[in-house]
Amino acid sequence: MTVREDLDEAGVQNLSQDFEGRDAEYIIKWTLERFGSRASICTSFQAEGMVILDIASRIEPGVRVFTIDTGRMPKETHELIDRVRDRYGIRIDVHYPDFGELTQFVSKHGANPFYRSQSLRMLCCETRKVVPLNKALLGLDAWITGVRRSHTANRSGAGKVERDDAHGGILKINPLADWTEDQVWEYIRVNDVPYNALYDQGFTSIGCAPCTRPTQPGEDARAGRWWWEDDSVPKECGIHLLPQPRTTSS
Ligand code: SF4
Repeated sequence: MTVREDLDEAGVQNLSQDFEGRDAEYIIKWTLERFGSRASICTSFQAEGMVILDIASRIEPGVRVFTIDTGRMPKETHELIDRVRDRYGIRIDVHYPDFGELTQFVSKHGANPFYRSQSLRMLCCETRKVVPLNKALLGLDAWITGVRRSHTANRSGAGKVERDDAHGGILKINPLADWTEDQVWEYIRVNDVPYNALYDQGFTSIGCAPCTRPTQPGEDARAGRWWWEDDSVPKECGIHLLPQPRTTSS
């Protein structure tokens, strides 16, 4: 039985209420036991993703992990991916943009069209991130992400589990939804988890190289993403743009 047949809207709501009182380890363990190889961690190797990967690999050393390589990632992220392979001995599935679509996009709009308009920025994110993500999720029943509620206003309603109707009703699992940034870094420090070297250069959120800058003290953690855009525009690429509303009262 697939998750679509097994967990209807009410079932996911019940699960969401239960998960509110559970810690990240419980939720990741539940997901891996329930779905096995039909569940995968989706990570861009930011701090939250590294926490999830560390917890999950202790529970299931063969845990599935995938990432989207947009073709514009900083070299520090590629270096971290190599370190992660060495440290955890895991396979990381790397998904790339469709070559034909990317060729068409760059031929028409140029290499860096994102600075010219928000619509071109969203189109670049769509081509380089969202479309490959959609393909990566095919065949999965659950994906595990590092979304936290305090990341952005757009994410403040994220549940620890959501029915992801944009991807066929599979489950989107956000085990760190209620974690603070301090908790993330405490976990990394205590467990000596590898992290992206750009954090030591003032970056507080890390995406594609041309669209990410370091932040200043007091700035929002995601202020360095697409910093040239109006603040009213969500600092999102589209992958996590429309989380389901949280279904519990806490
Ligand atoms: S973050 Fe920038 S370079 Fe990366 S996909 Fe989005 S617009 Fe393109």
